[in-house]
Amino acid sequence: MRPISSAKGAIQPVLTTLADLDAVGVGQLRSVSSHPKWSDALAQMGIHTVLDLVTHYPRRYIDRTVRQDIAAVVEGQESTVLATVRKVAVRKTRSGRAMVDIDVFDGSSYLRATFFNQAWRARQLPEGTEAVLSGKVDRYKGRLQMTNPLVDLVGDRTGRIVPIYPESEKAGLTSHDLGTMVEDALDNVVGELDDPLPEDLRKEHDFAGRTWALRQTHLPEHMGTAQRGRRRLGFDELLRLQMILVLRKRLIEREAIGIRHVVGGELIGRFLRGLPFPLTAAQERAMAELDADLAGPHPMHRLLQGDVGSGKTLVAVAALLTAVEGGHQGALMAPTEVLAEQHATSVRAHLEGLEVPAGEGSLFADRQLAVALLTNRTTASDRRTLHARLQSGEIDILIGTHALLTESVAFADLGVVVIDEQHRFGVEQRAALRDKGDGAAVPDVLVMTATPIPRTAAMTVFGDLDTTVLDELPPGRTPIATTWARGPVEETAAWARVREEVMGGRQAYVVCPLVEGSEKIQARSAAEEVERLAAAELSGLRLGLLHGQLPARDKEAVMASFRAGALDVLVATTVIEVGVDVPNATVMVIEDADRFGIAQLHQLRGRVGRGAARSWCYLLGAGTTPEGEARLEAVAASTDGFELAEVDLDLRGEGTILGTRQKGASDLKLASLRRHRKTVELARAVAFEIVDADPALAAHRELADEIRFLVDDDEREFLFKS
Ligand code: ADP
Ligand code: MG
Repeated sequence: MRPISSAKGAIQPVLTTLADLDAVGVGQLRSVSSHPKWSDALAQMGIHTVLDLVTHYPRRYIDRTVRQDIAAVVEGQESTVLATVRKVAVRKTRSGRAMVDIDVFDGSSYLRATFFNQAWRARQLPEGTEAVLSGKVDRYKGRLQMTNPLVDLVGDRTGRIVPIYPESEKAGLTSHDLGTMVEDALDNVVGELDDPLPEDLRKEHDFAGRTWALRQTHLPEHMGTAQRGRRRLGFDELLRLQMILVLRKRLIEREAIGIRHVVGGELIGRFLRGLPFPLTAAQERAMAELDADLAGPHPMHRLLQGDVGSGKTLVAVAALLTAVEGGHQGALMAPTEVLAEQHATSVRAHLEGLEVPAGEGSLFADRQLAVALLTNRTTASDRRTLHARLQSGEIDILIGTHALLTESVAFADLGVVVIDEQHRFGVEQRAALRDKGDGAAVPDVLVMTATPIPRTAAMTVFGDLDTTVLDELPPGRTPIATTWARGPVEETAAWARVREEVMGGRQAYVVCPLVEGSEKIQARSAAEEVERLAAAELSGLRLGLLHGQLPARDKEAVMASFRAGALDVLVATTVIEVGVDVPNATVMVIEDADRFGIAQLHQLRGRVGRGAARSWCYLLGAGTTPEGEARLEAVAASTDGFELAEVDLDLRGEGTILGTRQKGASDLKLASLRRHRKTVELARAVAFEIVDADPALAAHRELADEIRFLVDDDEREFLFKS
């Protein structure tokens, strides 16, 4: 970047990179400095630099060439009319604000434009003026009206397409103000931008150049050029994100030395032979994919996706056992204490009685496999013992929460890491656990998600991983009949079903409403709910209560008696979401279901339908919002987790899926994982193409610079350490 003369002198259009644009404050724009309040207003909107400003994109555009007769406009719709001012009236509202009513006529009919706090409109639009008005048309007191419409005096502007910016009423900036500032930036400080997309790729995929694209996105010549501009800039956002992920992926694969695990050995053999059922074809396939990674020279870095009940745990356990087989250790990390405890229970159940074969010629006999649990509840003295046993290699598999990441936790020889992500850990935490290896070799990493996420989201959230999908449920499952019990009649039927199934020797779950506040409050409300049910809908049945605040021993006792059939109904908080596995349970009732997200409902429902018997799920309560209704309808309509994941993405948008955990995610301003699925895939393919042809990005300097600019220091060092 060459120096810019600020102050009053004209700024030369010299900014050519994102970093350049980011280095100049908006206060240096003449349009901003000449409006004393604008700089603060922009700051309130989070717009500090020229980069922030020119990436504040129009939400939509109004095409003024598409005009309507006033007589033909439709109430509630955006319209653009060309009319002549017939009457101007200035009033004051009760609160003292200026209000200007302007009646216009276009030969077909009248319309009133009402402006609040824009007294100057009376001067702008005197009687006889011809103007184009754009805005939503309402009917007020029998009259067609537009409130604060966009006004263009005919011939006022050359552009036929008017960009509409997300305004900030709070900050007091209108779309027009924003447009003025953006135009100033584009005309006066933004130069010919570096284009990080190589020309051949640009041609191949028919992308516009970046400078043109930025200008057309803000000040389009027509709708088509706006679209073309947005397509290019949106692709850039996705490409940057994918470049970071793909670089990371290839680096790990290329550089890290992994452990060549012994696959298909005696221990795994014993384990698989001991299973009461054959593996599904999908499980076989998944295990084969994992085995190839585990046996290979580079560390595995793989995502295991599968629907609720598809048998992911088994696949994960097999990977952990493979580590143990070769004399290494395994670790399983879960996002919450409850989940960690449940994983420990289910892994222990899977491995019960399994003995680790003594090596050839060993002096020792086969020994019991040792599984340990570490959470924040582990007492200091237990922790000390555990640390020692871990370091001496006595513990084969350690299960726990992020407590596993604490510095004092040191493995003798960590070979395989399984992370149950549930979208809650970030890349950094994955790396932290991987770094618990002995330093010479990097452990293999398997990431599991509790519920499926859409393909495009997986490519982004988990884009540095390979993917294995379990696309098959174990045989003999009957689909769960799901009903949205939205009124008292349907609710009565739900409770009747619970009683009926219990009479038939089956069991049921009731999930208590989510309450805001602490786990304590949640626990208290669950305790009240079990009392209430015992006195009402479920009187006479044997009810148990399960929530996260119970001491581990009590929790285990409740689960044990439910498993043994000594309880008919388990009333619980969402602690039963994952891991609870009682095939005799056939009914799930979820109270106030619209408080839960789609993934959570699907996960909860997955607690039933685990045996061959018919199962039911009842979602209680009205959908209190249109989105809530859509969620409940979707869950009632489908038991396919992948399909529901797509619906979820449609309903919630990507923000919630990406969160802020993904580097560059906040950079997705134009691109959408939901609306641009094809483009996401293209960006990923292009990123692979670039990285595989030019791993150091030596011939892609502009792209490399841009990525360096976007990532934080740690990531930069990791990606560009050479
Ligand atoms: P997920 O974690 O994918 O939701 P789980 O691993 O908890 O699923 O498995 C769900 C249930 O299916 C468990 O009871 C498990 O023992 C059982 N299961 C796993 N694999 C098979 C299989 N191949 N055949 C029959 N049942 C299986
Ligand atoms: Mg499981």
